[in-house]
This record gives sequence, structure tokens and C-alpha cells, in this order.
Amino acid sequence: MADERIVVCPGSYDPVTNGHLDIIARASRVFDTVVVGVVGQAIRKSTSLFTPEERLGFLEDATDELANVRIEIFSDLLVEFARKQGATAIVKGLRAISDFEYEFEMNQLNRKLAPDIESVYVIASPDYSFLSSTGVKEMATFGADVSDLVPAPVAAALTDRVSRG
Ligand code: ADP
Repeated sequence: MADERIVVCPGSYDPVTNGHLDIIARASRVFDTVVVGVVGQAIRKSTSLFTPEERLGFLEDATDELANVRIEIFSDLLVEFARKQGATAIVKGLRAISDFEYEFEMNQLNRKLAPDIESVYVIASPDYSFLSSTGVKEMATFGADVSDLVPAPVAAALTDRVSRG
């Protein structure tokens, strides 16, 4: 397709939540191809619970039904990753006010680095606007049930991981 609209949805996805999946599914209905970019080397968050390969596996499993979605691990600059994928835009989910300040700053930086790549923001669904990977990990650590917040294999892996410390 000559004018195929490819977008990237970047994130740490440590692990993927139903909130992430909602954004990915909604993006997949608007754009031709969605490349979910899993951050391999996190700068913002120093330690991750799951390896990039595990995070990719959860995402592949959870997006299996979405034919125009694929998952990649990236460790370069986001705009470089987007360019390599042939993407014209970066899609980010926006939760309650907390995401805004960070996204505003990243938007200015990315715009300076790559004015040709647009950033598009998808507002979180009310059901998921307070859902974060960090929150889910905290809940699982204290034995709370996270089965309606993340896909089933993720809930099982979380229980397993936190029980082993
Ligand atoms: P987190 O902040 O949960 O660790 P990531 O760094 O993996 O998430 O975020 C990837 C993208 O998904 C970001 O654009 C983030 O704002 C968005 N996102 C995360 N959780 C949600 C949610 N519950 N609803 C909508 N967007 C979300």
C-alpha cells in the first residue's frame, strides 16, 4: 500500500495491562499497521520485573487476534525506531493528568528531533485511567487479585514472580 499509515506505540509494558491493550486495539482500528515498541533498555525506570523478551511474549499473545499489530523490542531513540519502522506517527495513551506533564516534555523533544513524525494521543478509557504497570505489580506483591486488570498469562506470571521474590 503506497500510503500505508504505520504508527508506533512505545512503552515499557512491564507488564502489559488491559489499559495498554485498549490503546493498542483502538489504534489498530484507526491506522493500517501498529508496531508496539517494547523498550529494551529503560532509562526512566531503572529495573524491570520482566525481561524484554518476556514482555514481548505477553504482548504477542494478547494481540494475537489483531492482524495489523506487531511487536518489536527497541533500544534506540524512539524517533529513530519510528523512522526505521516507516512510521509517520507515535501513538501514546494519556491517563489522568499525571501523564500530561511527561508527555508534554517528550513531545517537545521528539518534535525537535523529528518534526516529520507526529505524536497522537489517545485518551484512556474511564475503566483504565488509573491503571498502571507499577500499580499492578504493587497489587500483586501484596497478594491482591489482578486478573481483571491484565491478560490471564500475565496475572499468572505476576503471581509466580512475586511469590518467588
Ligand atoms: P506504565 O506507565 O504503565 O509503566 P508504559 O511506560 O508501558 O506504562 O506506557 C506505554 C504507553 O501506554 C504510554 O503512552 C502510557 O501513557 C500508556 N498507558 C499506560 N497505561 C495506560 C492505561 N491504563 N490507559 C491508557 N494508556 C496507558
